[in-house]
Amino acid sequence: MDNAKVLLPREIELDKCISANARYESARLDPEAIARLTESVVRVEGEVVATVTFERDLNSMRLVKGQAEADVVLVCERCGAEFVQHLCLEFVLTPDYERAKACNLLDKYEFIECNDAGKIDLYDLIEDGLILEVPSFPRHDEDDPACLRHGTQWSYGDVAPEAKENPFAALAALKGNLK
Ligand SMILES: [Zn+2]
Repeated sequence: MDNAKVLLPREIELDKCISANARYESARLDPEAIARLTESVVRVEGEVVATVTFERDLNSMRLVKGQAEADVVLVCERCGAEFVQHLCLEFVLTPDYERAKACNLLDKYEFIECNDAGKIDLYDLIEDGLILEVPSFPRHDEDDPACLRHGTQWSYGDVAPEAKENPFAALAALKGNLK
């Protein structure tokens, strides 16, 4: 099944991709090449998958648009247990900073830099984005029963003694009735 997915290229030439109308649909990222993401979490579960398209917009800005998803394992800060967090990233980026500046469009865009070879490193931008999506205080959802601390105080603190008392109270009432 993995082989059915295209491997997302690490670097692309933006002009070529735009003129070829290139599109990578649910392409997988080489797990060997996403070490920074892997190191920011306990582990990456399954594949990191991205859809990326390229276009020139009405302002003649060259855009890299896309969406990436990953399941990562984190440690819950409430209970210390591992859990899987789904990360979803959407991005629209351009390397055309100078053009945006000249056209007074700086606040309309988010920018990326081309590398020394004049290419866009897709892995870098996807990793950067996904790492920013990792919560700084990872934890299970408040009411997630999978959290080991879910309802701990509730069941051992308040409810348990009452649950013990109630049968005795019922018994006492029954005895009273019998007398
Ligand atoms: Zn938890």
